[in-house]
Amino acid sequence: MTTKPYDLLIRNARVVRPLQSAVIDADIAIKGGKIARVAPGIAPDSAAEVVDAGGKLAFPGLVDPHMHTGIYSPLDEDAVSESRAAAQGGVTSSLNYFRSGQYYLNKGGPYAQFFPEVLDISRGRFHVDYAYHLAPMDSKQIAEIPMLIEKYGVTSFKIYMFYGGYGLHGASSHQHEFLMIDKDEKYDIAHFEFVMRGIKDAIGRFPEKKDAISLSLHCETAEIMAAYTKLVQQEGKLTGLRAYSAARPPHSEGLAIVIASYLAHETECPNINLLHMTSRKAVDAALKMAEAFPHVNFRREVTIGHLVLDYDVETQVKAKVNPPIRSREDVEYLWETLLAGKLDWVCSDHACCRHEMKFDGEKPDEIFKAKSGFGGTEYLLAALHTEGTRRGLSLNRMAELTSWNAARRFGLPSKGDLAEGYDADVVLFDPKAKFTIRAAESESTQGYTPFEGIELTGKVVDTYLRGHRILADGKVVGSPTGQYMHRPY
Ligand SMILES: [Zn+2]
Repeated sequence: MTTKPYDLLIRNARVVRPLQSAVIDADIAIKGGKIARVAPGIAPDSAAEVVDAGGKLAFPGLVDPHMHTGIYSPLDEDAVSESRAAAQGGVTSSLNYFRSGQYYLNKGGPYAQFFPEVLDISRGRFHVDYAYHLAPMDSKQIAEIPMLIEKYGVTSFKIYMFYGGYGLHGASSHQHEFLMIDKDEKYDIAHFEFVMRGIKDAIGRFPEKKDAISLSLHCETAEIMAAYTKLVQQEGKLTGLRAYSAARPPHSEGLAIVIASYLAHETECPNINLLHMTSRKAVDAALKMAEAFPHVNFRREVTIGHLVLDYDVETQVKAKVNPPIRSREDVEYLWETLLAGKLDWVCSDHACCRHEMKFDGEKPDEIFKAKSGFGGTEYLLAALHTEGTRRGLSLNRMAELTSWNAARRFGLPSKGDLAEGYDADVVLFDPKAKFTIRAAESESTQGYTPFEGIELTGKVVDTYLRGHRILADGKVVGSPTGQYMHRPY
């Protein structure tokens, strides 16, 4: 028996690479979980297994840099079901925001004790490769940043700017209980400054990892939201998503972005990710800050939900999320800036929030009583393809926005491209297939979706994770083989 040079050959693909100006007709040869060669006419007898892509597009496996696996359901369940949804959407790297406090593991304490438990629960349960971003919630956790980088390969961190004076779902006066921090700790602007100083110091300590280390911020202002929520509720004129958007107005995002950016400048914290921009005011503030502080290396994120839904969508309360779904004018402005190359990646902000958790038992239509967040990783590529093609977004740019850019930022140098030496994470995508979004057909256990009924053009057919097929003809196959990505990975 002779051993063949390649384990797998994917023939007749139209290969979509980032940073290119066209799609190339080529075959992809894979060996030992890595891409060994991408070229036309690779001999079929050179591989142990040969797959004919039949002219489908081959995208690099998606890097979904913003998910919340384990936020509302136990992590052991969510890791399985929501990573199946990821595989269904062509996502092969799932990066999850996680923290101590209420929801998630529902406990406080140092990450030295907390995070090993997260890793234990995660092991063997993810169908795609996975990593975690962590939020330092108190001064003790700030001191753990170097340990998290060195020991656990956690190189990205988060600040939830509005948590100091506002809960996850609305006004709250019990922040210490919610965040599970000591009474003498404050989750406020000064804390954010010290998180930034902690990260800047860590970069000084690990200069070889400096490009992989970054800080993400959820930018909304608690005081503005508290005041406007009261106004909107007193006036009682608006309902549903329009009320929620008015209660957390776009300038609340813009102001938080300005504060975050100035603090980054003051602390010389270099790598700042401004998460999920939803509005013209947010984007304009972020672009002005990039001009004002050119030495800060900003990234600007947008979610697929904010690119597809506006606040008049039929599904209403199901689409409650922070920051809120906005007006159609805001949605089109996000597209305008995305097409102009001013936004860096598109994520799902996937937070599986099942029906019984999401809606108030007595008043399910009441927007202020519902919980925030919903899933969508399974529609990320198909929805971006549908809406993007219509507006002139190239396939190559879609690959940049769904894999390359986030992989560079978050310390995943082996992810994000279809080229020799990269992990063999490959998505076969049929750009002509049409389907209508039905929650019932999703692998997620959420059970409903704010995207219900939307017709998409383009479908993920097969997903390969490091050379192994994890999605075959739209169905998840095999047991979970996702690996923890200790970064830089
Ligand atoms: Zn999020």
